[in-house]
Amino acid sequence: MAKLEILTYPNPLIRKKSAPVENITEETVKTCAAMAEAMYRAKGVGLAAPQVGILKKIIAVDIGEGLITLINPRITLFEGDEKGEEGCLCLPKLTVDVKRHAKVQVKGYDLKGTEVIFDAEELLARALQHEIDHLDGLLIIDRLSRLKRDLALRKYRKLNAEEKDKD
Ligand code: ZN
Repeated sequence: MAKLEILTYPNPLIRKKSAPVENITEETVKTCAAMAEAMYRAKGVGLAAPQVGILKKIIAVDIGEGLITLINPRITLFEGDEKGEEGCLCLPKLTVDVKRHAKVQVKGYDLKGTEVIFDAEELLARALQHEIDHLDGLLIIDRLSRLKRDLALRKYRKLNAEEKDKD
């Protein structure tokens, strides 16, 4: 499989809802490997399939404790909330404070089709919620108040316009 390219805002594909994976095929396995490669190449802690233009419910997460690949992940329990700084590979250079559930239980399937359950907190809980949001076309800016979102987008455009000027 060719190297996957990470799409950046405002690419319309990252705003679309992803479809569940019906069958885990050889293609699914290849997609997951290519997603992990793209995530590590970009030095991210997580990647969702729509970020590379694949509208399927697949996420990869590695917060430094090993790769987790989840098919059709969903949040089944949550508790508390917590604010924390987040960035997104689709929004280069931007970081914003995002409120998330402090603890989550996430259920999904591994590449063998076996159901797996993660009881996560702290960074893992945050990363899982961030990636699951991507499957609904949601970005970190959508978790902000309208005012903060406008400010963040203005900052994002400025940060990335400067980069383009250098080319
Ligand atoms: Zn993201």
